[in-house]
Amino acid sequence: MTQTQFDFAGRVARARSAMEAHDADVLLLSFGADLPYVIGYDSMDTERITLLILPVAGEATLLIPRFEAPRVGLHPGVFTVLPWDETDDPMAMAADVAGSPASALVGDRMRSSFLLGLQERMPGTAFSVATGLMKELRIRKDPGEITLLRAAAEAVDRVVVRLDATRFSGLTETELSRVVGAMTIEEGCDVAAFAIIASGPNGASPHHHPGERLIERGDMVVVDFGGPVGGYQSDTTRTFCVGDPDPRAAEAFTVLHEAHQAAVAAAAPGVAAESVDRAARRVITEAGWGEYFIHRTGHGIGLEVHEHPYIVEGNSEPLDVGMAFSIEPGIYVPGEFGMRIEDIVVVTAEGADRLNRSERNLHVVE
Ligand code: ZN
Ligand code: ZN
Ligand code: ZN
Repeated sequence: MTQTQFDFAGRVARARSAMEAHDADVLLLSFGADLPYVIGYDSMDTERITLLILPVAGEATLLIPRFEAPRVGLHPGVFTVLPWDETDDPMAMAADVAGSPASALVGDRMRSSFLLGLQERMPGTAFSVATGLMKELRIRKDPGEITLLRAAAEAVDRVVVRLDATRFSGLTETELSRVVGAMTIEEGCDVAAFAIIASGPNGASPHHHPGERLIERGDMVVVDFGGPVGGYQSDTTRTFCVGDPDPRAAEAFTVLHEAHQAAVAAAAPGVAAESVDRAARRVITEAGWGEYFIHRTGHGIGLEVHEHPYIVEGNSEPLDVGMAFSIEPGIYVPGEFGMRIEDIVVVTAEGADRLNRSERNLHVVE
């Protein structure tokens, strides 16, 4: 993915001022979302290093395998490309370019073999992880990012509409997962990032890996899927029921729906992230299902499906305009069923704006 619509020179400048605040002399980014965020180029995750060397002052350099340099495209003024050949020592080249900085921040998804190689070549440099700095840069989405998040959400919402007209019974989870994945691409996502199908008792495992279980009448089916548009991710969950629901499951679903609404209503600028989790949890706990809500209420989303801010007890960080995250309470009864409702929201001055607009009721299918 090469993004072209963003102001990467501006992002490099913001990264540099954050580096000053963090007392970092150089930022080193390899594989992961931090690199495309800052310069628009997404590195392949291979044993051959691609490395952005961004000094707090001076030119930025992208060290890259020579045969991958054509992938980079043109980013005039943002960085210089330094290709390395198969017989070169890229770690030595990286150390040469970096000089001998006192401190370096490294991306948190850099391979350990790269980090250890760099540390060996730069013995006088103190290395630490760039997680905090990158979080500050990425946590508030700008209007261009929100446009892509919205497009991705609209694409998966159209899939939900199509699923209402899909026959579930007689398909295995794996087969339905493939159907959802194909629809995700047909509706406009760049790829199908994931399609969790958890039927019947498997629904009690929130990240169930779709398997050979045959979906049958009476099953609750958790469908959690998404894919990116222009690199920005979507992630939505709707719960389906094949035929009429079991009364106990239907009762739990009413509670879940109310909990979801309460959490969306709680999200606003200045509100602690954990308050949104509490709003959902209170409804489920007061109705007696609290022990079955076994995960946090949500996670940030952007270039990655899971990023800051995390909507979890213990995160007292205030929400702010531009933050985008999921609200996805669930109820999971081992051996029986599971259910979850998940929307992506963006914090605005008026509160949470839902990017996902498909029906949040229990979807009854054949
Ligand atoms: Zn998840
Ligand atoms: Zn999800
Ligand atoms: Zn999610």
